[in-house]
Amino acid sequence: MTAQLALFAEVPAPKKKRARCIHPSVPDVPTTTVPAELLRVADWILLNSSGGKDSQAMASHVCDLAAKLGLLHRVVIVHADLGDIEWEGTRKLAEEQARRLGVRFEVVKAAGGDLLARTVERFFKLKAKTEKEAREQGLDPATAKVAPAWPSSSARWCTSDLKRGPIRKLMTRLVAELGDLGRPAHILNCMGQRAAESAPRAKLTAVEIDRPASNGKRHVTTWRPIHGWTDAQVWKEIARSGLPYHEAYDWGMSRLSCSFCVLGCEADVVLAARLRPEKAAQYVDVEAKVRADFKHGLSMREIVARAKALDDEHGELQRPPRGTALSGYVGKKATSKYLARLERGHLDLAV
Ligand code: SF4
Repeated sequence: MTAQLALFAEVPAPKKKRARCIHPSVPDVPTTTVPAELLRVADWILLNSSGGKDSQAMASHVCDLAAKLGLLHRVVIVHADLGDIEWEGTRKLAEEQARRLGVRFEVVKAAGGDLLARTVERFFKLKAKTEKEAREQGLDPATAKVAPAWPSSSARWCTSDLKRGPIRKLMTRLVAELGDLGRPAHILNCMGQRAAESAPRAKLTAVEIDRPASNGKRHVTTWRPIHGWTDAQVWKEIARSGLPYHEAYDWGMSRLSCSFCVLGCEADVVLAARLRPEKAAQYVDVEAKVRADFKHGLSMREIVARAKALDDEHGELQRPPRGTALSGYVGKKATSKYLARLERGHLDLAV
């Protein structure tokens, strides 16, 4: 009997997944998709800023609308600080954009290590799990294949751990600031995602209820104000707003946020390896530790080799003139005007 009990004790019952319970007050669908109405009913208008061109175009566009409605005081720009894996100066830039727009700025940061440290940590957890499962099945744990630890399009834990989670904590703080409203607070969570970026983003809707982020105290509506915009529209908005943009675009990057994005295009990651060779070397080290390529089908070793070949062929990259990226979309004259406004630090918000 004792032996039987011990036998049962060694086989833990499978963990039941807790079904996520959404508060009954949370609506299924938004009551409106009209921008002015979305803004009017929001207690907080939260603008997610990576510091990149899409976030800044979204931020200046929404601030312009909010200013016309006299709602600028409800706007908060939030930047999820990713540490040294994002381009230098990104956090400062997001803060400067908020300052020039005249709105509150908040920085959130996930507790624990950065993306590289988390990838290593995740590898050892996956490895331990895989080996345990192999042993349980009577297989050799040394030959068991460990799932890739790097984030990917199908396992985008980087966004949820480093951005979404910390931003939800800020939502809790903002709602507490409002005190008792006698109803759930309304948060309008604005994102710079665009359909033109990728097929998965094209499938997103412009307005939806974020049910997982909502509860009995807050209802969160996700709004993608520039979902239908083209690249040209984004750059025209940057020229109109006069907000500074990150110089990585002038160097030729098409996206910002992490210098090396697992979802980034090949040209971007090779260029980033030319601009940040030391950081690229850290990714190579992590690739060896976690025994998997950084990108599906493309290793950082290969990226570094291509970057080196380009340096050997063309020499080191030369700093491009400020405004290079913008002038490709709005022309030299409009770019000169933009740069002059940038110098003055002046921003016209139609109030
Ligand atoms: S920029 Fe790319 S790698 Fe960085 S958090 Fe976003 S999806 Fe993940």
